[in-house]
Amino acid sequence: MPPDDLAYALGPTAAAAPATYRVTKEIPFCYGHRLLDYAGKCRHLHGHNGRAVVTLEAAGLDALGMVVDFSDVKRVIGAWIEEHLDHRMLLHRDDPVIPELTRLGEPFVTLDVNPTAENIARLIYQQGESHGLPVVEVTLWETPTSFATYRPG
Ligand SMILES: [Zn+2]
Repeated sequence: MPPDDLAYALGPTAAAAPATYRVTKEIPFCYGHRLLDYAGKCRHLHGHNGRAVVTLEAAGLDALGMVVDFSDVKRVIGAWIEEHLDHRMLLHRDDPVIPELTRLGEPFVTLDVNPTAENIARLIYQQGESHGLPVVEVTLWETPTSFATYRPG
């Protein structure tokens, strides 16, 4: 038996109390975009070293003591981002550059809305939700000083 100050009892007491557990996984990726009908610098094609911050929540823990295994978040949402968003241009579906990118064989993804950090965060949220993960919030860091968060409700 360890001495009392090295033995912590989190079991029955903590588990019986109402609580919310929250885990967060960061997923870095690179993307390009531009915004339509926008007067600032983001109207031109350019890229970002972005970072998705995915937060998941549960009122209780699974048998392993987890909300969700971090590796499952990476396997599901991380893999989707890598396959669909990483190193691609994210464009409004009406962007006039699309025929040219198509002609050049350049990869791109279209959204029915402007590809702002807010909308990209929402897109990532929807992917996590559609895969059955208890996602409650996605933040997209577009630059080291600017981020947008999507949370339903
Ligand atoms: Zn931008």
